[in-house]
Amino acid sequence: MALCYIQRVFRSGPLHPQPRILCLHGSPDGPGQYVAIMNSIFSAQRSMVPIDSCVIGSQHSAFLQQASYITGGVYLKPQLLDGLFQYLSTVFATDLHSRAFLQLPKPAGVDFRASCFCHKTTIDMGYICSVCLSIFCKHQKKCSTCGSVFGQAQAAQDSSTPDRKRKTPLDS
Ligand SMILES: [Zn+2]
Ligand SMILES: [Zn+2]
Repeated sequence: MALCYIQRVFRSGPLHPQPRILCLHGSPDGPGQYVAIMNSIFSAQRSMVPIDSCVIGSQHSAFLQQASYITGGVYLKPQLLDGLFQYLSTVFATDLHSRAFLQLPKPAGVDFRASCFCHKTTIDMGYICSVCLSIFCKHQKKCSTCGSVFGQAQAAQDSSTPDRKRKTPLDS
């Protein structure tokens, strides 16, 4: 919704503000929202809108770590919630120009793991559709997103035809 609003402002006149989005995040990531979140992140990146993240929940948010990293925003998980206003006013309320002069919190590390589209669970390794880049935790016969038909997985179930070339949709 924030990105839609920003687009409307961009297109509505000569004004060209330098918007940014702040996510105040308290709950754990919902892996079911992975696709929507990644689409929003790439949309924000294209529009050059930084996504700032202030995580007030108990655990880090891998989604927002990626969002802030990719869009050039600030990711911060305050140690002391008593000082929340101080973080909001000094770190997040500062305009983009002034940020260059601040010692902003350095990200400790970004969790780049993705969620599979089939079960919405976070995975370390998986299969990727070579056409639409959908992610799956197990080998599929067909991409559930774009409908591309995959060949056999390499060294997989069908050992009776070991010489069969692995066919991806891009081979044909
Ligand atoms: Zn899965
Ligand atoms: Zn696909």
